Amino acid sequence: MSDTQKNGQASGQDMYDAVVIGGGASGLSAALVLGRARRKVAVIDAGEPRNAPAAHMQGFLSRDGMPPAALLDVGRAEVSGYGVHLIEGKAETVQPEPRSFSLQLAGGPVLRTRHVVLATGLRDELPEIPGIRERWGRDVLHCPYCHGYEVRDRPFAVLGTHPNSVNQALLVRQWSEDIVYVPGTRPLTDDDRERLDARGVRIAAAGAIVQVVTKDDRLHGVELANGTVVPCEVAFLFPRMVPNDGVLDGLGCDRNEAGFMTTDSAGRTSVPGIWAVGNVGDSRSLVISAAGMGAAAAFALNHDLVDAEVHRSITELRTARTATQNGAELPAEQ
Ligand SMILES: Cc1cc2nc3c(=O)[nH]c(=O)nc-3n(C[C@H](O)[C@H](O)[C@H](O)COP(=O)(O)OP(=O)(O)OC[C@H]3O[C@@H](n4cnc5c(N)ncnc54)[C@H](O)[C@@H]3O)c2cc1C
Repeated sequence: MSDTQKNGQASGQDMYDAVVIGGGASGLSAALVLGRARRKVAVIDAGEPRNAPAAHMQGFLSRDGMPPAALLDVGRAEVSGYGVHLIEGKAETVQPEPRSFSLQLAGGPVLRTRHVVLATGLRDELPEIPGIRERWGRDVLHCPYCHGYEVRDRPFAVLGTHPNSVNQALLVRQWSEDIVYVPGTRPLTDDDRERLDARGVRIAAAGAIVQVVTKDDRLHGVELANGTVVPCEVAFLFPRMVPNDGVLDGLGCDRNEAGFMTTDSAGRTSVPGIWAVGNVGDSRSLVISAAGMGAAAAFALNHDLVDAEVHRSITELRTARTATQNGAELPAEQ
């Protein structure tokens, strides 16, 4: 990371073609394409990718099982090889300027840029159940595409902490036949019960979940308020997913009913010059799809820059031609 700068040393007033906020898979992938397009680019990264608690990253073709941090180490080395400025720090605000944006770093300089690529991911808000946070990404999981194969055929509990929990139980049934649904305090409808029964998912007693129980640093069960412990080796739950997009507050980007910014297929938000890629715009994107979104946005962003540059060059050319013609018509100096 030889090109990485602490935010206090970031070069201040030069105009960037694009500043990428967030140096996870989506942001670094955008920066790689833009750097190779010979654009002036900075990536600001606070260094807290969503999958940091997991020891391995699964499902990325050619990188299956790689530690998440190792992917980002390689990515940072690649983008810095194309002259991208890597800045450690946190972006605080983005303000619109005429045909550009100013971007304030926490405790650091203000960067000026023609485009902003928001690649800040999302945060998983976990239910306040003792033990959950400590086991998150280990044996308390949410995404079977990320971890399901590694825990296949083991006894799962699915915690009823979210409106989507029954669907999650029906989904993870693909990876194990030994599943108990723990409804907690969330009532089940007759339709829910029928769907769970039909797929052989057992249903535990209703009642508050007081903690997850571990033994020898492994998940052992889920304890209910009545004192019973529902045995399991793996627990799935659906967190509340919140996009990390506060840095754009006040810009007025359109959002969908889930509160995520809406974009076109290339990642353009409703505010020209502001792009959103990866989990900040799409809670479902895995690492490989987040990287793909970053690359697709960078491709389109570079085309937008080329269009703007052609337009500006034509305007300058016509102005120069007009001045030349006017100059030719001026009377010769005496
Ligand atoms: C426990 C767990 C395990 C997972 N395992 C897998 C897996 O095996 N395979 C898989 O494909 N997916 C997995 N995922 C999903 C994976 O984490 C996401 O697909 C991926 O992280 C999305 O990449 P991203 O670039 O959008 O966001 P992130 O990787 O979260 O990167 C966002 C970056 O932006 C930075 N940032 C945020 N705000 C600011 C700011 N204001 N200024 C500067 N920087 C900022 C963050 O610090 C972070 O470094 C897992 C998720 C979890 C929770």
